[in-house]
Amino acid sequence: MNFDIRGKKAIVTGGARGIGKSIAEGFAKAGADVAIVDIDIDEAKKTAEKIKQAGVKVIAIKTDVTKPDQVSAMVREVVEEFGRIDICFNNAGICINEKAEEMSYESWCRVIDVNLTAVFLVAQAVGRVMIKQGGGSIINTASMSAHIVNIPQPQCAYNASKAGVIQLTKSLAVEWMPYNVRVNCISPGYISTAMTLSAPDEWKKTWLDLSVARRMGKPEELLGAVIYLASDASSFTTGADIIIDGAFTCV
Ligand code: NAD
Repeated sequence: MNFDIRGKKAIVTGGARGIGKSIAEGFAKAGADVAIVDIDIDEAKKTAEKIKQAGVKVIAIKTDVTKPDQVSAMVREVVEEFGRIDICFNNAGICINEKAEEMSYESWCRVIDVNLTAVFLVAQAVGRVMIKQGGGSIINTASMSAHIVNIPQPQCAYNASKAGVIQLTKSLAVEWMPYNVRVNCISPGYISTAMTLSAPDEWKKTWLDLSVARRMGKPEELLGAVIYLASDASSFTTGADIIIDGAFTCV
């Protein structure tokens, strides 16, 4: 069993803040070089500066992960800088809360583009590198919303996109097994980040009332599972989805 990721080269999309930032910081503290990939380059640079203090190489790359050209350029840059890609935490995501009967076509497409199509684009571009180099680990961020329907907020596109992430993860895991490229996902419950903290108080009250843990998770409470999936400790784990929700989906 080997949880050591020292010297490995990692990409974290949506790494400027929230869950991505916390995982990027965890990777760096564990000794991996990290590329922080985000549409918000100012925040990504600030995060990179902070994380560098761990003594590893950290770069920030502005990328809209929904744009295939930008994703290809980002992956090329990471390979130029780091020489290879061992780990990809494929995590950038958004949520738009609109009632199904009122949701605009544009809102639907935006959520599916960022949360599902971009996860494929990044996995494809990184997967090509990993196949060539003989292996690697891709970890996608799905959600407990792939398993349950959250209430009271309406978020049908988000829920559908995250269910898609799980089946995409399984599909890539099967296709890329011969190349030693493992593909897994995590399904967090409510985690304290800008995405959830910006919600109206009455939504948050409902979430806590429905939760078994009576609290939201912290981003750093996802790190152990992600390090496991990133490292050789998970060498026989591929196509898996780890639900990390304080038992929210159990009841
Ligand atoms: P967040 O809003 O704090 O961070 C998301 C990051 O993604 C931001 O830095 C943002 O700039 C970046 N991003 C958004 N669109 C992008 C794009 N097109 N290209 C590149 N970067 C882009 O959210 P978070 O809570 O940290 O969420 C991270 C992931 O975890 C998302 O996929 C989200 O759906 C998922 N998730 C979050 C929760 C939660 O409760 N916070 C629960 C389950 C799953």
